[in-house]
Amino acid sequence: MAVTKPKTAAERKARVAKILVVLDEMYPNVTCALHHSNAWELLVATILSAQCTDKRVNEVTPGLFRKYPTIQDFAAVAPEVLAQDIRSTGFFNNKAKSVTGAARKILNEFHGEIPRDMEQLLTVPGAARKTANVVLGSGFGIASGVVVDTHVQRISKRLDLTKETDPVKIEKDLMKTIPKDKWILFSHQIIHHGRAVCIARTPRCAECKLEPLCYSKDKTS
Ligand code: SF4
Repeated sequence: MAVTKPKTAAERKARVAKILVVLDEMYPNVTCALHHSNAWELLVATILSAQCTDKRVNEVTPGLFRKYPTIQDFAAVAPEVLAQDIRSTGFFNNKAKSVTGAARKILNEFHGEIPRDMEQLLTVPGAARKTANVVLGSGFGIASGVVVDTHVQRISKRLDLTKETDPVKIEKDLMKTIPKDKWILFSHQIIHHGRAVCIARTPRCAECKLEPLCYSKDKTS
């Protein structure tokens, strides 16, 4: 279907509101796909998820958290040893350094508590902005920003919510466009949409309820 671009600010705002309604219809109760029972486990799982599928991470973390049940356990283990435990997630040497470094920093500087503040969380090894947004949003329910992963990057562009390619700039655009009370849910919804429908190579536009609002040149007929 040929879709007309919104011309005025009011039309753009109305279109974004409609997109959010449709996302709520399509993905009403989506949450973080990484299994975790507290914010520390979520931080570890998110660090492990870099360049790795959530499915693989979810296969590794149950055994990992049985072997190292506390932050102290992760702080005490040598990175070379931990690397072998997380080998199947890829980039295991760097990830092991990040996880042990994060555990030590949180114990030494934050009394063993995961910081609930973006600025402080960004000082923790392995916690770049995307990871920090995941931990704050899904670990604590704090909307500090929008998680921008590859799905959010691709689909925000396809839906013309940004023209940027840099994740930090995309996040700024989304924070301006999406109401703050939707930041956490929006990224979960878009990540699910990216996996199920708006896939990278050939989006399944025929089964996409956002199609009447989407004028991406990537659309398939
Ligand atoms: S219509 Fe196609 S390109 Fe647009 S959001 Fe849906 S699946 Fe993605």
